[in-house]
Amino acid sequence: MLANYSKWAAALRRRRIIYKIYKISRAAGEQETLQSLITIHNYFVSLHPISYTAMIDQILEYNRKFVAEKGYEKYVTDKYPDKKLAVLSCMDTRLTELLPAALGLRNGDAKIIKNAGGLVITPFDSAIRSLIVAIYELGVDSIMVVAHSHCGACHMSYSHFHDEMLARGVTDQTLDTIRKCGIDLNHWLEGFKDTEESVRKTVEIIRTHPLVPRDVTVRGFIIDSETGALQEILSK
Ligand SMILES: [Zn+2]
Repeated sequence: MLANYSKWAAALRRRRIIYKIYKISRAAGEQETLQSLITIHNYFVSLHPISYTAMIDQILEYNRKFVAEKGYEKYVTDKYPDKKLAVLSCMDTRLTELLPAALGLRNGDAKIIKNAGGLVITPFDSAIRSLIVAIYELGVDSIMVVAHSHCGACHMSYSHFHDEMLARGVTDQTLDTIRKCGIDLNHWLEGFKDTEESVRKTVEIIRTHPLVPRDVTVRGFIIDSETGALQEILSK
């Protein structure tokens, strides 16, 4: 197991170095160097396919023990949220345990829906779909939109993703094909500039959604990523 981790760490270090050279070459417009770097990167990935799964193997090992020791017993509940609450929040790792702890939520209390930023991007995206299911199928009557301080989705830009994708082997031709299929990657991957404004926008989309019943309460918040303190964001 340990050997796998050190291989994985070494592969990561190599990838970071390759990426740095990649950025310099890209700035200098050296196409041949770029192509060679992509080839080298893919070679390293092919050399260490097992090392990339080391963490998942460790999780599987833990899981077998968890089930065998009946670690699940204190979590047993049903699919209906006891507090009739849904929380739309960010996938940020700082919130994994902090969010339910700071809101006093236990297993079975609420439907927690997460994505990058805790956003509803369009009125029929997957976040809204989950909320609709939570309302009509699972009895949710209150929704909290909870963004957080120092969110990684704030100030995201497509140009960053574009460079990363090329460095990881995605070709411009593939990006072109996606564009021609009508997908606006700029919009799809863009972040928000102002967290408060972003919460207001998401709350507004949910409140005014034609499929969300008017008696469902929708309120917006920003949680402090360190202390868990909630600040309510009121509509203007
Ligand atoms: Zn976030």
